[in-house]
Amino acid sequence: MTSSTHSVANQVPPLVGHDVFGADAALREAVARYSTDAARARSTAAELGELGRTAGSARAQEWGRLANENPPVLHTHDRYGERVDEVEFHPAWHQLLEKGVAAGLTAAWPRPDGHLRRTAAFVVWSQVEAGHGCPLSMTHAAVPALRAEPELAAVWEPLLTSTVYEPGLRPAAGKAGVLAGMGMTEKQGGSDVRANTTEAVPLAEAGAYALRGHKWFCSAPMSDVFLVLARAPGGLTCFLLPRVLPDGSRNTFLIQRLKDKLGNRSNASAEVEFDGSTLAWRIGEEGRGVATIIEMVAATRLDCVAGSAAIMRQAVTQAVHHARYRSAFGGPLIDKPLMRNVLADLALESEAATALAMRLAAAQDRAAAGSAGERHLLRLAVPAAKYWVTKRCTPLTAEALECLGGNGYVEESGMPRLLRESPLNSIWEGAGNVQALDVLRALQREPQALNAFLNEVGQSSGADHRLDAAIKEVLTELSDLDGIEARARRLVERLALVLQGSLLVRHAPAEVADAFCASRLGGERGLAFGTLPNGLDLEAVVERALPG
Ligand SMILES: Cc1cc2nc3c(=O)[nH]c(=O)nc-3n(C[C@H](O)[C@H](O)[C@H](O)COP(=O)(O)OP(=O)(O)OC[C@H]3O[C@@H](n4cnc5c(N)ncnc54)[C@H](O)[C@@H]3O)c2cc1C
Repeated sequence: MTSSTHSVANQVPPLVGHDVFGADAALREAVARYSTDAARARSTAAELGELGRTAGSARAQEWGRLANENPPVLHTHDRYGERVDEVEFHPAWHQLLEKGVAAGLTAAWPRPDGHLRRTAAFVVWSQVEAGHGCPLSMTHAAVPALRAEPELAAVWEPLLTSTVYEPGLRPAAGKAGVLAGMGMTEKQGGSDVRANTTEAVPLAEAGAYALRGHKWFCSAPMSDVFLVLARAPGGLTCFLLPRVLPDGSRNTFLIQRLKDKLGNRSNASAEVEFDGSTLAWRIGEEGRGVATIIEMVAATRLDCVAGSAAIMRQAVTQAVHHARYRSAFGGPLIDKPLMRNVLADLALESEAATALAMRLAAAQDRAAAGSAGERHLLRLAVPAAKYWVTKRCTPLTAEALECLGGNGYVEESGMPRLLRESPLNSIWEGAGNVQALDVLRALQREPQALNAFLNEVGQSSGADHRLDAAIKEVLTELSDLDGIEARARRLVERLALVLQGSLLVRHAPAEVADAFCASRLGGERGLAFGTLPNGLDLEAVVERALPG
């Protein structure tokens, strides 16, 4: 194009119109690998391809932009001074949710290979916009916790797992689908929920309680129903708290403020209060609140891994796309040896994240089908993956942004939004230290979890000497538990890396596995991205990451 002062050249065309699923070799291969039935694998790939093409469309990308540039607005009162406690969202937020729910992002539980399919869809659809993944994730995750109370589950599970998005505060009985949120964190304690002070007083109706207290973070406050922790006479207990009561009246759910957040701007995260007239129904036994809600937390933690894998994939895709079309010093950036090193290093991190997320999704399906070994693997691998994959997301996104140069620092590129979103998965559902300590708890209390882990990584035994040596090092580290708490991050990092290495050695192309083991397990790498050693096939690694 020519303007009156200069012609515009060497600007990169927007990355649009591609198939986000079809172009992601690591994701595609994982779906094929873990599907338990060939015909189902084909239909799942076809569905994911359709979702992937929608995710890559200009229309869906515009929904993501609009939902973030027009953040939610809280209305505490109506014009007459009555409390309404409603949050108003831009129509693009509803379009994103409608598509996400229709794509089955809350419908994993009733289906065979349901977690595999859903996690892949989550990785695809989160690349359009990350904020609305929060209610999708919580709605999906509420199901296993709710099953502790079969009568409540019979009413709510079909609505939570519906593929119909029906916004608006109305009685659940008249709705075709509902969304769920979670209320654990209070002002005085988030990680340490034992510090919760919200009180639950039993009422005459069996299972019903009145709640008084607050929640300091309560995201997606326009959800139909919340799983909350409160202190009943028998101790910390899990409750189901609907926003609209069965008789159609509003439950008391006082939204005091919305948080002004670093990122995640499309999503509303509220401070809420319960005034003693707030009604809730017990899920599970009194005093078993943490044990009950942990089922929900385990599923949302896995979504943090998948969500971070999605951000990383999106960031890498933008970086390689830019480097392919942008020239400097006589040729495309992608052909410059140093840029290729950076891109390959980013691509390795992204592929390892995807491989791990998808292995855990397959484990969820296998555990749901009765495999104790897979259940034990999840116990250790979910917090380890939550720790490591979410922690790698921010430095990766920052480096990918830099690949776009100055354009990457400008909002129009979409990279600043990705970077702002990046740290969140590492914080919510338990920050890094909490995950590392949870891995220690699993190691100390559930020996089968370590056995399942060793069994998994042992499947690649003998395939790569660096991986074998790294597994031995982990075992040495575990044999001396003196001062283990202070060393927990180091240990968990190694556990996650050997698991990723083992998956790549078994399933990824040789050049990817080789580069990963050389740089992440063999120690031949600097601290920054782009410091891979010589002698690796970096061109092939970058080629594999290209978005079509
Ligand atoms: C955008 C957003 C949305 C959220 N939405 C929700 C929601 O919908 N529902 C909900 O219930 N919560 C929600 N949260 C809260 C979130 O889950 C908590 O912030 C998180 O679990 C950490 O708890 P905290 O903020 O109380 O930090 P703290 O518990 O005070 O932790 C602070 C730091 O100390 C570390 N730490 C804690 N214990 C130890 C220890 N024993 N040893 C070493 N280090 C330790 C942690 O790793 C962390 O780095 C949301 C948070 C954010 C940012």
